[in-house]
Amino acid sequence: MSSHLEKQIDALILSVAVPVPLRQTFDFLVPEHALKNQSQIQPRARVKVPFGRRELIGVVVEVKAHSDYPLNKLKPAIELLDEAGIFDDQLWASLLWLSRYYLAPIGEVLEAAMPLAIRQGSGLAPAYERVWRLTEHGRSASIDELKRSPLQLAIVKRFMQQSILSSNEFKQESKSWHTPVKSLVEKGWLEEFSREPRLSITPNMSHEGDDASDVTLKAALKVTLTDEQANAVDELRALINNNAFACALLQGVTGSGKTEVYFAAIEQTLSNHKSVLILVPEIGLTPQLVARIERRFNVPLAILHSGLNDTERHTAWWHARQSHAKIVLGTRSAVFTQMPELGLIVVDEEHDGSFKQQDSVRYHARDLAVYRAKQANIPIILGSATPSMESYANALAGRYTHLRLTKRATDVSLPKIELFDLNKQPVVEGLSPAMSEAIDHTLHNGKQVLLFLNRRGYAPVHYCSECKQAAKCHRCDSNLTVHQRVNRLRCHHCGYEGRLLHDCQSCKTKDSMLEVGEGTQRVEAAIAARFPQATLLRIDRDSTQRKGELAKLLEQARSGEADIILGTQLITKGHDFPNVGMVGVLECDHGLYSTDFRATETLFQQLLQVSGRAGRREDVGHVYIQTRFPDHPFFEYLKGHDFDGFSEQLLSERKAAGFPPHGHFALLRAESAHQAKALQFLRRAKADCGHQDGVLVMDAVPAPMERRAGRFRAQLLFISQQRSSLNAQLSRWLHYIATDKEAKKLASTVRWSLDVDPLDHY
Ligand code: ADP
Ligand code: ZN
Repeated sequence: MSSHLEKQIDALILSVAVPVPLRQTFDFLVPEHALKNQSQIQPRARVKVPFGRRELIGVVVEVKAHSDYPLNKLKPAIELLDEAGIFDDQLWASLLWLSRYYLAPIGEVLEAAMPLAIRQGSGLAPAYERVWRLTEHGRSASIDELKRSPLQLAIVKRFMQQSILSSNEFKQESKSWHTPVKSLVEKGWLEEFSREPRLSITPNMSHEGDDASDVTLKAALKVTLTDEQANAVDELRALINNNAFACALLQGVTGSGKTEVYFAAIEQTLSNHKSVLILVPEIGLTPQLVARIERRFNVPLAILHSGLNDTERHTAWWHARQSHAKIVLGTRSAVFTQMPELGLIVVDEEHDGSFKQQDSVRYHARDLAVYRAKQANIPIILGSATPSMESYANALAGRYTHLRLTKRATDVSLPKIELFDLNKQPVVEGLSPAMSEAIDHTLHNGKQVLLFLNRRGYAPVHYCSECKQAAKCHRCDSNLTVHQRVNRLRCHHCGYEGRLLHDCQSCKTKDSMLEVGEGTQRVEAAIAARFPQATLLRIDRDSTQRKGELAKLLEQARSGEADIILGTQLITKGHDFPNVGMVGVLECDHGLYSTDFRATETLFQQLLQVSGRAGRREDVGHVYIQTRFPDHPFFEYLKGHDFDGFSEQLLSERKAAGFPPHGHFALLRAESAHQAKALQFLRRAKADCGHQDGVLVMDAVPAPMERRAGRFRAQLLFISQQRSSLNAQLSRWLHYIATDKEAKKLASTVRWSLDVDPLDHY
């Protein structure tokens, strides 16, 4: 072989990331069809490769000259799918960072960054969609001709409001559109053509609540900024016009008008001909927010959330990367959207736990967003009334610009928080006499009542009065929850469901089972009995299972249709309920004494957030909290709305313990059907990972809930003051178990995962 030829062959190796949970890339030869046209072979393009007995679609990470494997062992790739790379430099760098930082398999990271259609190999642009419009004849003919076919008539009338309709839009209106449309085409009223799919808002995200008389929407159109808002906006404008990376923490009390500040920053960015990425928590993406943004900014908007179907997702992704969409609004995974003209990122309610992905690639969208802003050299705004300790500490240390809104925008003071001491009064079905009285009083004044109880179902325990045994899930270390309306017992951890039995399964006594404790369903029944005139709305995961149901219930709460709203943490998030006069917290004591070190942080955030729903217009709102621990220092901070005091205290405790954000955690989790195996694997991991200066490896322990869904769970915690040491030790161990035969074998006997910066320790 001549050296010339050899060189050519050498340069034909593709290093490919495939969607498998392995922390490596795989080498392939260039596919035959591309051999002649080498200029086409670009890194970051998709490629179909043989993988075991399967064919997988991966991404070319590198086109290289040498492989560590002999050439004759390498298989050719099957097909190159793209002529050019599909990730731009900025997003690519962020994805590589993500893979390094979270020690996540690169193939899985890239998989997470592509919509399903792209992962499955479709063209980058979504397929054209079928649309219809009126013909010349259809426009001029008299609709009286259609009198005898009401469906056709309705369709033609629809075209008078909107000149082009897609099959998707027909589907939203009626399932039986097919035949009448066909008839209209045959009669020459309608004609069909096709076009690139437009950005569309899905049915349940449509303009519910978009009502011209709506106070909030009107206010959104023109407000005079408060002094504090104006100051924050000035600083943000300076950052935006500076064309450099900067992270601003916008800490504004509930009702301080953070949205107006975001809007001013967005406006500035758009007028600089740049686009904006807005990330919101899972349930922060309400039709109301969408409507507000649409009204305020007359630019194409792409919305990305879990309710989209694959085509809609692909379409939004495409319009964003083509820079058609000037604003991209979405939940966690929207952080992966490629936006060539990105000029600003906003993360609303940045403390929210839904930004952290809890399986597969366990990334935090806020942290990735900050990294992306750095790569793109643009500002990012993190906003919250109750920032995470991580962001708060960064602001205190001067790494973030700290912008504060200390007053409400609407001349309304923050609500008054009072405690009801449960040591001094009885609770019946979740309500103390004082709480009932407060509810009565509030309803009397024509105001809404918001009740917070973070426990769904009817009763958390089903308990035998004879043998004192609770009904337990046979697959988890947890009690079953009574769901009375459906007469079922459910496990909230694994989803197990069984019949509600009245006889004890342990001691076989007849009719001995009691329902102990209160869940939302039980309190709902009690409230309905106690306040029969009031319209009651329950918002929890059970009442919002259907798609679009949560948005509907929240809208009912907001519009004032309901007098009493009872809900779990779903109601604590940044909703604007204008008519709520009081908030009642029925139970929060379990959060004060939890084994999870983040529990008090979360509880403080939840209570301050839910309090913020009270009295957002006109007079002062009231917050009443039932507790058995009224002297707990936690409540002193809460009553004073003293987030800073509370956080300072918490941060100093965390510092003393070396906990986040002062120390860094990584959690290695393992689970197995056999009790001993998970622990055994983790003990080996601890022994194998070796010593690393500055990293403390705890002992392998059973998880706080050891058995879940029939599997035994254990965990191993790594703590370090330096991220780099932690990362180095874990990388070394990952390499070891990927290469050492015996370690590999042991690892294959359990299901394990690594969580860097874990949020939840269960
Ligand atoms: P936050 O997100 O900080 O809790 P919002 O952005 O929801 O607060 O604003 C709370 C309410 O105050 C909204 O109804 C909003 O329209 C109103 N608002 C915001 N800024 C102003 C202002 N400068 N003047 C009058 N009303 C305002
Ligand atoms: Zn279970």
